[in-house]
Amino acid sequence: RAKDEGRGNFKYFSEDLTEAAIRRINLESLLRRAIVKEELRIYYQPQIDINSGAIIGAEALLRWHHPEEGVIPPSQFIPVAEETGLIGEIGEWVLLEVCRQGQCWLEAGIPPLTLAVNLSPHQFRHGDIVASLAAILNETGFPAEYLELELTESALMTRESEAVQILEQLRTLGVRLAIDDFGTGYSSLAYLKRFPLDRLKIDKSFIDDIPQLEDDNEIAAAIIGIAHTLRLQVLAEGVETEDQLNFLKKHGCDFYQGFYKSPAVSAETFIALLKQCT
Ligand code: C2E
Ligand code: MG
Ligand code: MG
Ligand code: MG
Repeated sequence: RAKDEGRGNFKYFSEDLTEAAIRRINLESLLRRAIVKEELRIYYQPQIDINSGAIIGAEALLRWHHPEEGVIPPSQFIPVAEETGLIGEIGEWVLLEVCRQGQCWLEAGIPPLTLAVNLSPHQFRHGDIVASLAAILNETGFPAEYLELELTESALMTRESEAVQILEQLRTLGVRLAIDDFGTGYSSLAYLKRFPLDRLKIDKSFIDDIPQLEDDNEIAAAIIGIAHTLRLQVLAEGVETEDQLNFLKKHGCDFYQGFYKSPAVSAETFIALLKQCT
């Protein structure tokens, strides 16, 4: 029993667990309410062509605008959404909103941009992502070629055997596929070769310490080399300094995103930024 003497540690441990469970349940019901109350917003982080410096697209990133707490980052609610399955509903909404926004920008005469959407492991594992995406593209009219889906290594590994098939079907729809946070999961070169991908995103953790840390310089350069050998475009995530950018440029990296250019911003701010950069 937790109350027994000599079990102090266990007692505190179990109380912590209870607290965590309560917080989780609260968060889940708050999140359900947030969906109904339309407190979720999509922000856009520019993706830049390293050589020309032009904004060629954006990654869609969720923000929760809580009336009292302010803006809550995805790290604080995506894991709960993922575990409870709420991410299915949220993820589908993100896809629909991004395709609507993209089509709206195209109709307004804004030069075509590639819009990237994160696909969670749950979305990839449950439901029929191929059919629901086909319906969304059809409903919004957004050309599939301008939509990129970002998948993590863990998402691909959870449906290892079917993953190639599902990716092929998504490719048949005409969308682009990217591997996100590359290097942080079970990176298997064998799979990388088999998956029909267009782009590889080098995780921020490998970018943080370049060009100071020689090991990381070599890892980043090696990943760029592997990507190009596999005929994949390569994008560096989390670029914050000019030194990092220069290193990546010198080593042939194709694209980047990061605070050096801009964090994720509202759709309006993104368009203002785009106009300012052309
Ligand atoms: P991610 O897909 O790897 O997105 C990149 C994250 O790095 C974003 O964090 C972005 O704001 C941050 N970032 C970009 N450049 C920099 C930089 O220069 N410095 C620093 N410190 N950070 C930078 P964010 O928006 O907090 O999102 C975190 C994660 O939440 C995302 O990682 C993604 O896994 C997940 N996420 C966000 N939106 C969605 C969504 O709509 N669906 C799903 N399934 N997951 C999402
Ligand atoms: Mg991403
Ligand atoms: Mg990433
Ligand atoms: Mg990440």
